[in-house]
Amino acid sequence: MKVSLIIAAGGRGKRFREESKGKSSLPKLFLDLAGRPLLAHTLEAFRKIPQIREIVLALPPGTQEWAKRRLWDKGRQGPPIRFVRGGRRRAESVWNALRRTSPKNDWVMVHDGARPFPPRKAIVELLRRGTARRAPLDGIILARPVVPTLKRVAPKNGRVLETVDRSSLYEAETPQLVRRSLLFEAYRRNPKAFLATDESSLIESVGGRVKVLPHSGWNLKVTTPADLALAEAYFCSAPLTVGFGRDTHRLVKGRKLYLGGVRIPFEKGALGHSDGDVLLHAIADGLLGAVGLGDLGEWFPPTNPRFKGIRSEKMLKPILAKIQKEGWWPARVDSVIILERPPLLRFKNRLQKEVARILGVEPGRVSIKAKTAEGLGPEGEGLAVTCEALVLLKRGLAPFEAERGR
Ligand code: MG
Repeated sequence: MKVSLIIAAGGRGKRFREESKGKSSLPKLFLDLAGRPLLAHTLEAFRKIPQIREIVLALPPGTQEWAKRRLWDKGRQGPPIRFVRGGRRRAESVWNALRRTSPKNDWVMVHDGARPFPPRKAIVELLRRGTARRAPLDGIILARPVVPTLKRVAPKNGRVLETVDRSSLYEAETPQLVRRSLLFEAYRRNPKAFLATDESSLIESVGGRVKVLPHSGWNLKVTTPADLALAEAYFCSAPLTVGFGRDTHRLVKGRKLYLGGVRIPFEKGALGHSDGDVLLHAIADGLLGAVGLGDLGEWFPPTNPRFKGIRSEKMLKPILAKIQKEGWWPARVDSVIILERPPLLRFKNRLQKEVARILGVEPGRVSIKAKTAEGLGPEGEGLAVTCEALVLLKRGLAPFEAERGR
């Protein structure tokens, strides 16, 4: 069986934009869901299905370049992907895509771009049943038995006329697998084809045999901002993670003292292979610990001359990028600096702002606390500076504030 997959993603999400009160100007399928565009999740669901020989994506006009950049990695493998312009209605988008499908593929599978989690088992089962030799079909669609109690009411006054027997009712979902030739025929013969809300109804309109594949799994359709929040919650089963970092450097003459990216005027500075910024090192280790990515010494071995004298802000950059790629952002940093002298009180605001800027978050998410060691131990004797940091990471992309911070 050879299948062309059509993803209907041509709409601009009118309802979504109305409910988000103009806060998002991107088409909803490009909005972020756990660190990637919603549509990337949808595409991911169809990865490595050998029957799928090509993918045709119907996108809103003017968004193709954006989609090419954001939807998959450069080294992507799998069937070729083509883009077509979405229409005003779903059925128009599917038609534009259908015309671009290869006639070598007898079947077309259509899926709503707004359903990011189609159950993979069901996709495989649809393909299996579609090819069954016994009782050949013209289409098979994913559908859900209707669970709520249904009332037929008088349109004028809302009076209940009857309770509908739901035992034979199903809610049509996608994917829907249909014969390509028959779908073509339906578009040509049915004058109201562009009003169809799914492919099954088109196949039915030309006398095709369609069956449902009942399922009761999760196949959310993202229509409103609340749906997107739900999808995010579903995807991020562990929405928080925490990491701890600690670092100590010797204080020596002839070095500059950096803390949190801020130069602190003092007669001594922290000895180190880098600029010796203990606060940023502790935070870096906290970030790495939160996602289990080792420690700073592994990322920047002190034996590597390339990192000699490196500013610690530069060390944080690739770590933050990696964390973001894994779907996390730093929502909270709490820290303690243990330093006998100089007093840090008058620098604390600047430290807080600078650390927040480096992390790409609002200053309110960063807390800096400064302590002396009461003259005890190496810190107390002025021989060393130590920092500890607790880092809380959240799933997803940092809120808008991060864009400004960077
Ligand atoms: Mg260090």
